[in-house]
Amino acid sequence: MNNSETFTPWTQEYRPETRAAQGDGWRCPTTGMVPPPIGLGATFARDSEYRAPAGLAYLRDQGTPGYEQVEQVVAGLEGGSDALVFSSGMAAATAVFQVLPSGARVVVPETMYFGLTKWLREFGTQRGLEVVQAPMNDLDAVTAAVTAAPTALVWAESPANPTWTVTDIAAVGEIAHRAGALFGVDNTVPTPVHSQPFALGADLIMHSGTKYLNGHTDVVAGLLVKAPGSSEARDEIWERLRLHRRLTGPILGPMETYLLMRGIRTLFPRMRQISETARAVAEHFAEHPRIRRVAYPGLATDPGHAVAARQMTGGFSGMLSLHVDGEWQQSLRTANHCELFIRATSLGGVESLIEHRYTFEGPGSTSPKDMLRLSIGLESPADLVADLEQALEKAAKEDR
Ligand SMILES: *Cc1c(COP(=O)(O)O)cnc(C)c1O
Repeated sequence: MNNSETFTPWTQEYRPETRAAQGDGWRCPTTGMVPPPIGLGATFARDSEYRAPAGLAYLRDQGTPGYEQVEQVVAGLEGGSDALVFSSGMAAATAVFQVLPSGARVVVPETMYFGLTKWLREFGTQRGLEVVQAPMNDLDAVTAAVTAAPTALVWAESPANPTWTVTDIAAVGEIAHRAGALFGVDNTVPTPVHSQPFALGADLIMHSGTKYLNGHTDVVAGLLVKAPGSSEARDEIWERLRLHRRLTGPILGPMETYLLMRGIRTLFPRMRQISETARAVAEHFAEHPRIRRVAYPGLATDPGHAVAARQMTGGFSGMLSLHVDGEWQQSLRTANHCELFIRATSLGGVESLIEHRYTFEGPGSTSPKDMLRLSIGLESPADLVADLEQALEKAAKEDR
């Protein structure tokens, strides 16, 4: 038996939405159970010739059959050729930087996921990476940074956490490739529903599966996806990433792998609803007396709107930030008065979250102090707006 015999492959090419909903059609091969079973084994018995019947030997080495399903589905959703599941988004992202040769030069965004910035500062530079930060929404600055010296990798994230700055992915990809660098994109926030970085030139896509892919705030997971079509540099880094996971062990447990796949089944309808609600909330507060500014690429007035509208499809995802008017403590007070929005970090779940990033990030934070980051969930838009309205009102009264 081969690993791929745990399901009957479809003979038709289906659209991403269909592939997600049915998890590419995997079932239990012996009972026909929908969905497929959870395989908890850490080791796999050999046959009498000492062959591994399904090509699986040990959990850290190849994962379980559940890996093959989720990797195949996510690669399919991104239009990629292969995927690797990891124990977290950070395990996936840092794997890319860890497999580069020591001394490699990398150009990364000035604004991106805080944990990755911190890892690059604490460990990336320590192991000899030359880390150059560039404002990814300024193409001249990106060109200058990438061409100043031989560069191995350019990294982008759009819209970028937590300011939702938009990067022209195709343009940055072109700059990277002209300089002979690989181009990696963190596609966690837009998800494959709203953004297709491979069509815009990315070599690698990274996901925090913790966020929208799983979508239910009960799993920490990560993924890397390889672009379609091969190039020497791309194939080489991919094989090193596979080996890195195998030898260092940032693997996802079988239960979490199952939950991740279950979440992905509803990715499309969740994202559509979440993006629609986020736009409604952003529009409500766009001209609000207690809000200085709303950062959301879906607003026509947002500085990144034109580029986002060109490169995103079907919506702008569910993340936005409100800059609260008045002294900066007003933002923290507003969060404290919310009843429906949960004061918690993370994003991409079915429940809406609110976060004062400056306080959460602590020393070294570059987040604006007046900013509240919202992760919009699946609640009624009217209830979410009303909750923020009453919280802003109470916070304003407290100020007097
Ligand atoms: C959460 C997040 C990560 C890190 O993922 P973990 O699963 O928490 O390790 C990376 N990038 C973005 C944009 C994120 O939101």
